[in-house]
Amino acid sequence: MTGAVHGGDRRANAYDALVMPVVQTATYTFGRTEDLVSFMEGKVERVDYGRYGNPTVRALEQRIAFLEGAQDAAAFASGMAALVTTILSLVKAGTHVVLTDDCYRRTRRFVTRFLTRFGVQHTVVPGDDLGAIEAAFRPETRLMIGELPTNPFLKVMDLPAVGSLCRSRGIKLLVDSTFATPINLQPLRHGADLVVHSATKYLSGHNDVLCGVIAGDESLVSLVREARHDMGGVLDPHAAFLVLRGLKTVALRVRQQNASAQALATWLEQHPHVRRVWYPGLASHPDHARAERIMSGFGGVVTFETAGDETATTHMVDACRIPRIAPSLGGVESLIEQPALMSYFDVDPSERELLGIRGTLVRYAVGVEDVEDLRADLERALAAVFGQRSG
Ligand SMILES: *Cc1c(COP(=O)(O)O)cnc(C)c1O
Repeated sequence: MTGAVHGGDRRANAYDALVMPVVQTATYTFGRTEDLVSFMEGKVERVDYGRYGNPTVRALEQRIAFLEGAQDAAAFASGMAALVTTILSLVKAGTHVVLTDDCYRRTRRFVTRFLTRFGVQHTVVPGDDLGAIEAAFRPETRLMIGELPTNPFLKVMDLPAVGSLCRSRGIKLLVDSTFATPINLQPLRHGADLVVHSATKYLSGHNDVLCGVIAGDESLVSLVREARHDMGGVLDPHAAFLVLRGLKTVALRVRQQNASAQALATWLEQHPHVRRVWYPGLASHPDHARAERIMSGFGGVVTFETAGDETATTHMVDACRIPRIAPSLGGVESLIEQPALMSYFDVDPSERELLGIRGTLVRYAVGVEDVEDLRADLERALAAVFGQRSG
């Protein structure tokens, strides 16, 4: 994808460098006080201090805007810094937020526990229930937060329908598209007002940097950027360089991750030691038709339940040699985890059961290794615990 390499480039780099250099500086100088005064009067466009801007970070923001088909974008120190700064710039005491029940746990916690302390109300709704979403809207609702595909069941909400519900009421729709990537989905084209990514995942793609980005209309993004100037969750220039570098191969990586995940999901679904598989690219996924309508690929995460119990599932995970046990996803290295023992560890077992997070559930975040190696590794791990398949 050409845009992942060149999109958003505005001008020649310093020293005619092909690659955007890391402009590692905390502040910027003025030759004379007169120049400072012209800047303060708004007569020249430039940057004066590192919290307000950086050329390497700006290059990243322009590339993200291009990839999302957005007017503008802003980068942050992490996905959560992007989410929190964006949410805080769109609400005030007395306003109401609607969010989906399976969105990122920390987003949910921030809205349900933190914002409540400042008089911002919320309603949590199932993302696949349009009636419930519509019923949750109040006159004071300003913001709806959705996510797709979700973790770990990879649900895909009806983005165009939710978008038009929001638009008709003047509610801003913020979509966390971390699992989709702009290669598979551009939420702004389907009714979202703002798209947010944990660029820690697919966009940077190498499990070596934390970063968050948002993209949308210039007016909304500048509102959020202004809030970032106050809150200070800025991205370090070297981190921006790493994300820009990773982005150049995002299309190559994600296309391979799509293909490998689809192949693994299809294979797992036929496996006698696997009870159930969730992957939006499978016809058996409840949201398959919806996903097909708006997505051009279904991502690199496959979720499945083994046919054993929690202990057997743990043995299977431990028997895998290629995917490492770790949180996160989207990098070149495959990662594996049992959600019950990772992101849902501190949720009490009865609530976990209600959410469908069983001990037998496994989340496999596919990297860019050869899919045949990944499949053989899983086959061996399943056989080591459950025995060779019969027949
Ligand atoms: C990881 C993640 C986040 C948080 O991003 P950080 O970069 O870890 O702060 C938010 N949303 C989703 C869907 C994520 O996977």
